[in-house]
Amino acid sequence: MKKRYLLAPGPTPVPESALLAMAAPMIHHRTPQFSAIFREAADLLKYVFKTKEDVLILAASGTGAMEGSVVNLFSPGDEVIVVNGGKFGERWGKISEAYGLKAHWITVEWGRAVDPAAVRKVMDENPRVKAVMVQASETSTTVAHPIKELAALTKGKDCLLIVDGITGVGVFDLPMDDWGIDVLVSGSQKAFMLPPGLAFAALSAKAWKFQETARCPKFYFDFKKERKNLKDNTTAYTPAVSLITGLLDVLKCIKEEGIGNVFARHDRLARATRAACVAMGLKLLAPESPSNAATGAFVPEGVDGGKLVKYLRDEMGVTLAGGQDHLKGKILRIAHLGYVDTFDIIISISAIEMALTKSGHKVLLGRGVAAAQEILIEGYK
Ligand SMILES: *Cc1c(COP(=O)(O)O)cnc(C)c1O
Repeated sequence: MKKRYLLAPGPTPVPESALLAMAAPMIHHRTPQFSAIFREAADLLKYVFKTKEDVLILAASGTGAMEGSVVNLFSPGDEVIVVNGGKFGERWGKISEAYGLKAHWITVEWGRAVDPAAVRKVMDENPRVKAVMVQASETSTTVAHPIKELAALTKGKDCLLIVDGITGVGVFDLPMDDWGIDVLVSGSQKAFMLPPGLAFAALSAKAWKFQETARCPKFYFDFKKERKNLKDNTTAYTPAVSLITGLLDVLKCIKEEGIGNVFARHDRLARATRAACVAMGLKLLAPESPSNAATGAFVPEGVDGGKLVKYLRDEMGVTLAGGQDHLKGKILRIAHLGYVDTFDIIISISAIEMALTKSGHKVLLGRGVAAAQEILIEGYK
């Protein structure tokens, strides 16, 4: 018997209550029963997104909401700025170019956050730029980009701030309306604690204005059509009924905990994980601007990170994430978002200490765990 622990930055563990809710017999989607579930979920999403705008619910992985944001707001030839500091930032650029937009790429070293001054410079040099696209949390590098500062740059200008909040929304504060974020997207399988398959997108009034003149081709991801259907408590096409039933459950859990407490929990778990990594002698990938969704740390010199992640998964039953592209084999990514609490952190840190020991690297067993405990204990009366 091997007990398994899912501690990767998506998909994340699903709470028992949501699993049960999703196991309910199928209901038809064009019924008052489904509309009631859908309406309540759509309203609670506004609470999590901190917006008065509609939050569209799409049957897609998170990338669907990213692609939808591009095709609904722009026309071929439009100029946009893409913050490329990792795999997901790169994705904004690839989607934009796939639809014939002209992307100005701002390349950021992996592990660092974008400097708002660099974005301002490209905006000043290219006054036709219609959007800045960025991640709130770049999951591939465990970096949090300075969204509030970027929002100040686009505010009042004919330029949108488009934020991939897929590991940001529900992890740390991203008050969409207060800060002036124009598009905020997320997905079900990260902080929303659900299986993959739902994507969310909220648009500001300014973004909806862009939608009126956008000419990119689209069919399935037609935001105007989805918004019209949302007003009637339904979706344009068959919704992911079971996932939306689960969504209502997790949103009620978030509401009950209180969004501020949800952020505080993520902050505590993230600080504990970072402290543990430092105590284990692992260098942090993003020491200056870390995301509270996941912690990236370099594996010690001489240790094969790919083998370590495999050993943790196959031998110890603990699924963490490794690195991508040039960080492949070099880093570990420990997730702490969604349905996670104190003792999930103890499991991942303890397992890393044991796996490093098994790989022949000398670590003082318990040192990382102790450093984590010092911070985790803050969460108790
Ligand atoms: C997971 C993730 C995505 C979306 O990926 P999908 O596989 O399409 O769900 C996009 N951006 C970030 C920052 C992510 O973490």
